[in-house]
Amino acid sequence: WVDMSTGALQTESVVKKSLGSALTRIDPKELLLSEKVHSNNELATVFLAWKECLTVLPESRFDSVNGIQRLENFFEVETMDSFGEFSRAELAAGGVLIEYVELTQQGSMPRIAPPTSLSKGALMEIDMATRRSLELTKSLNGDNRGSLLNHIDKTLTGPGARLFAKHISEPLTDPNEVNQRLDMVQFFYERGRVLDQIIDCLKTVPDIERSLSRLSLGRGGPRDLSSIRQGLVAARRAGDFLLEKELPNGIRAFLEQFVGYTELIVTLSDSLRPELPVNAKDGGFISKGFCDDFDRLLILRDDSRQLISQLQARYIETSGVPSLKVKYNNLIGYFIEVSSTYSKQMPVSPGGVFIHRQTMKNAVRYTTIELNELEEQILAADQRALIKEIEIFNYLVDQVMAQADKIALTASALAHLDVTTALATLAVDNNYCRPTVDESHKFEVYGARHPVVENFIFTDGLAVGKSLEPGAFVKNDCCLNADSRVWLITGPYMAGKSTFLRQNALIIILAQMGSYVPADKAHIGSVDKLFSRVGASDDLARGRSTFMVEMIETAAILSQATNRSFLILDEIGRGTATYDGLSIAWAVIEHLYEINKSRTLFATHYHELTQLSPKLKGVTCHTMRVKEWNEKIVFLHQVIDGAADRSYGIHVGKLAGLPKEVVHRAKSILTVLENKKTNTEGLSLETELPLFADSSTLNQQKKKGLTILEKEIDKIFPDDLSPREALETVYKLKEIRNSKS
Ligand code: ADP
Repeated sequence: WVDMSTGALQTESVVKKSLGSALTRIDPKELLLSEKVHSNNELATVFLAWKECLTVLPESRFDSVNGIQRLENFFEVETMDSFGEFSRAELAAGGVLIEYVELTQQGSMPRIAPPTSLSKGALMEIDMATRRSLELTKSLNGDNRGSLLNHIDKTLTGPGARLFAKHISEPLTDPNEVNQRLDMVQFFYERGRVLDQIIDCLKTVPDIERSLSRLSLGRGGPRDLSSIRQGLVAARRAGDFLLEKELPNGIRAFLEQFVGYTELIVTLSDSLRPELPVNAKDGGFISKGFCDDFDRLLILRDDSRQLISQLQARYIETSGVPSLKVKYNNLIGYFIEVSSTYSKQMPVSPGGVFIHRQTMKNAVRYTTIELNELEEQILAADQRALIKEIEIFNYLVDQVMAQADKIALTASALAHLDVTTALATLAVDNNYCRPTVDESHKFEVYGARHPVVENFIFTDGLAVGKSLEPGAFVKNDCCLNADSRVWLITGPYMAGKSTFLRQNALIIILAQMGSYVPADKAHIGSVDKLFSRVGASDDLARGRSTFMVEMIETAAILSQATNRSFLILDEIGRGTATYDGLSIAWAVIEHLYEINKSRTLFATHYHELTQLSPKLKGVTCHTMRVKEWNEKIVFLHQVIDGAADRSYGIHVGKLAGLPKEVVHRAKSILTVLENKKTNTEGLSLETELPLFADSSTLNQQKKKGLTILEKEIDKIFPDDLSPREALETVYKLKEIRNSKS
């Protein structure tokens, strides 16, 4: 794939199963397919998601021999081996891409850097559903404010922000590479002063990448030259701040990119004025003193202007009109103007020198042969100065383009520096810790928080019935290792299960993108694929029911997850009848545990599943701590060992405002159902759960003609009343009684 804005060309070989997640990660605007691949049934569903951007090309274009030839010609090398190892498929794809760009850009080729190949498995695989559910770069509701990216991106430059988003989308898998990034973040994390100095520099860095790309396409202007100069100056300053410090390798590598521009900086500084037009053709951007020829033309032009004012003085004398002016407009050029009152005394040709041109409402305009000649002289000087100015502009662009590859590397180093310092700032401001990332199969985090939700916990009146103070997010531990690979998490709705599941997945993304994590301590064995099935995943647009989608996604996970993968699953099987769902969930856990061997957090309402725990060593039960108080429940959002004994669904329904009658009725149905579980004898719902019996007694009572007072009394459920409500009820009854008497 090629990024037209930066000119980066990358290749990667993927197996069919991983194609979907690779495409989601790359997020192409246009996708070139051969006819054969396009008609491949196995891949049809993958390409369905990209149908808007497909371009199907004849098979012959994908010939690898031609592709290699084209790449070698384009990059002017004997062999593509000079750039590293590429598979035939990668070279074929690269060739097609270069040919397509050449064809569509019609001669103005962007600068394209030599290709780099992404080794297999170098990046964590995250499929589309997982990205959506974890709200990495976009929120589920479509705007981006609730996304992880929005909350943690502290970058200061355009290229830095683009790189930051890329790093979130492409966490690494090699612990060495992750640790290299973490070393860099740690350097700034521990040195607040240097961090501030670099941030100061970055604040002045413009978008050099874009400027370079515009200049290379011949669409750049003086401001692009200036922004490159400004960026190079900032890079040199940043380099100075880092000099003579003990730097981690990554940062030391940047330093090389921040020097070597002295001459270019001097040239650009000497040549460009402080105020610049967008387009070179508007002129007026080259400083005096940079080029003698240009200066001479300027003097000529300015001298002519001087002549105009001399001419005006002379004409005032000749005509005796003190308010006579020589003016200029775009329509008729230079002209002489006097107010109508004085027009009578103007010596007009043939006798006098002035030639009448226009009569306006309050003024009359004239010209003279002399003025016309002078005008021509001025225009010519202007024209020549502009031509010279554009010549200088092109020279400056050439100077920049001669170092384009190096400048691109500098821009990239600045973007990396921006991302690194942004992550250090994030860690300092939010009290994150450096995770240990290695090849183990552990996932052990202590005192962990959700990086987004922790910022939103201020009051939690609905669930708790009391207010929590800001920052009252409850920290949790999560330890998956050889003894406990699968966590079964039960607990009522609203207790914080999905928050817990997601926070652990996000901590993995953060750690492997090279960031500190919101926890007191974290040890993470590198994850190769991350799967999240938490929250709604409707795919009605593709005509599939929710349950069908869930099953397709579960199938995909079971076929792809490895012993290095990490899964967070919520309520697998909920979309079907209880026993179906329970059986599916049960079988899925067994498969994950015995075959996939992935680290898994599995939240469920099927309490029956907790019976799996004693059977499978390594499947452990956990639940959300709930406190019962006065018939009310308080969610403590704390994950503890053990299984939930009840699901508190009715309590949650009550909190959500279900009518009291419904809550009350649900309670009696629950009691009957629970009794039924312990009672093996058959039960008829109609008799034991007398819904209709209830209404028939009601009818009978109605017939008896209940008083309003009696009806009100029927509506009272004493157990549900708070002391205040009880008192209010007494007052209300008293009022009804009084109004009757
Ligand atoms: P569940 O998945 O169990 O239904 P959620 O994860 O959606 O519950 O959480 C419900 C609400 O509880 C969230 O909106 C959040 O405000 C709050 N919450 C969740 N976890 C915590 C926590 N660790 N500390 C404080 N509040 C939390």
